[in-house]
Amino acid sequence: MRVSLSSPLPGFHKELLDIVDLFCPRVERLGPDEGPGELDVLITQQTQGTMRRCCVRLSGSLTSEFSNEQEIYGDALLMRRLHKRQVKRALFGALSQASGLRPPWGSLTGIRPTRLLLDAMQAGQPMDRAAAWLQDTFQISDEKLSLLKEIIAVQQRLPELGPQQIACYIGIPFCVSRCRYCSFISRVAGKRTDLAAYVHALTKEIKGTARLMAQHGLTARSVYVGGGTPTVLDEEMLAQVLEAAKPLCEGASEITVEAGRPDTITPGKLRLMRDAGVGRISVNPQTMHDRTLEAVGRRHTTAQTVEAYHQAREAGFASINMDLIAGLPGENIEMFEHSLARVMALRPEGVTVHTLSVKRSSDMHRYKDALPEGDAVARMVTVAREQSALAGYRPYYVYRQKHMAGNLENIGYAIPGHACLYNIDMMEDHATVLAMGAGAMSKRVYADGRRILRAPNVKDVDHYISRVDEMLKRKHDLFLGIGKGVRAPADAEDFPEEWSKQELTN
Ligand code: SF4
Repeated sequence: MRVSLSSPLPGFHKELLDIVDLFCPRVERLGPDEGPGELDVLITQQTQGTMRRCCVRLSGSLTSEFSNEQEIYGDALLMRRLHKRQVKRALFGALSQASGLRPPWGSLTGIRPTRLLLDAMQAGQPMDRAAAWLQDTFQISDEKLSLLKEIIAVQQRLPELGPQQIACYIGIPFCVSRCRYCSFISRVAGKRTDLAAYVHALTKEIKGTARLMAQHGLTARSVYVGGGTPTVLDEEMLAQVLEAAKPLCEGASEITVEAGRPDTITPGKLRLMRDAGVGRISVNPQTMHDRTLEAVGRRHTTAQTVEAYHQAREAGFASINMDLIAGLPGENIEMFEHSLARVMALRPEGVTVHTLSVKRSSDMHRYKDALPEGDAVARMVTVAREQSALAGYRPYYVYRQKHMAGNLENIGYAIPGHACLYNIDMMEDHATVLAMGAGAMSKRVYADGRRILRAPNVKDVDHYISRVDEMLKRKHDLFLGIGKGVRAPADAEDFPEEWSKQELTN
């Protein structure tokens, strides 16, 4: 939809278009001289004393007028945050009034909804009051609020992170083929020489990071080897990475390898991982329908998924996660339920249910006519929540992305004792993360997540290989609080979408 936006608040335009996006798919913003659009949004505001009134008027395909008031207080950062929330809420109110729709997450467009609830609780609010504030501020549905409360309750029962404990991430951004919905930097694994050069650089960065950790007295509570698909490496290269990672893994309570694509898993690689102390792996079906797998460019079958799962059990893995995606092209609710039932019948310790997100950088746009409607995807997500609860799983983390079908979310479910610590520490900004590999993002977390410095590695694999020493230096700089590549703290609510796969793990 072509949208014109007239607002005295240019700094908020991006966030306001995110709100329009909740109601009108495929929003295209018109320039100042290009209007009128199919939808015209006019925002005005007035301040009287300590109160600010914001008014949103819609014309075009939707017509409505909505206003709200906000008290002005606090320091500059807080005032800006409250201002932005107010304007987003007013726009959400106008669009909701005009369309009759109530997107389940309300005007909350950030990706870490639990973080806001946790922040309010850390400020001294009991959970119920913090939840009521969250619902009042963002108009999120009762169902999503109860999900958040359950997740926080699960997280609160987990062991606390020690003062010198961090999380480590090792990225292998290669896959056997590219899934059509993929928006990550992952490359199709080509020549063995490319992989070998990458592994050489990566092991150098891992060893350097281990030295940095020793220097600062840090230990890893969790180590996550993600991708891409780490098991795309042959046994020799996988062994090199795991050997280099040994000092990082010493004392870690959780070591995960995202085996991911079942067609890359072999008994030899499973043995190697077990011997290296890996306790948790992901074997990801995404769907249990071969026709869909072919349509989305995943070159494996459901039979291979089941075989890889049993091989992992035989190799001794006691914590296996399996991923499913709700909203894949050509799938309806019955097909999703079938996949869910088949996966749960295997009894993995974790099931992560993603909602398909159609990013511009993916190939999925071409298949948009085959995508199920948002209502159908919402039913899939609800069924997953109900069925997982009946089977003894509990939700332990949630995150959202832009352009998700039905404006929904991704949820990790696990049976008690198997929640992935890395996912929680990463998503809730609990832990400092030292991340290795192309496109990996290190971050230093201070003051309970209220201050965060970031140091990204370059995304391009060839640049990474040639500049690996510089990537290591960026990590050193992170501990000095200075240096190239170190970023300013982000507001948890408005965290920029700079996702690397490391933060979208399973
Ligand atoms: S979605 Fe995952 S498995 Fe598929 S190509 Fe992207 S990184 Fe690889």
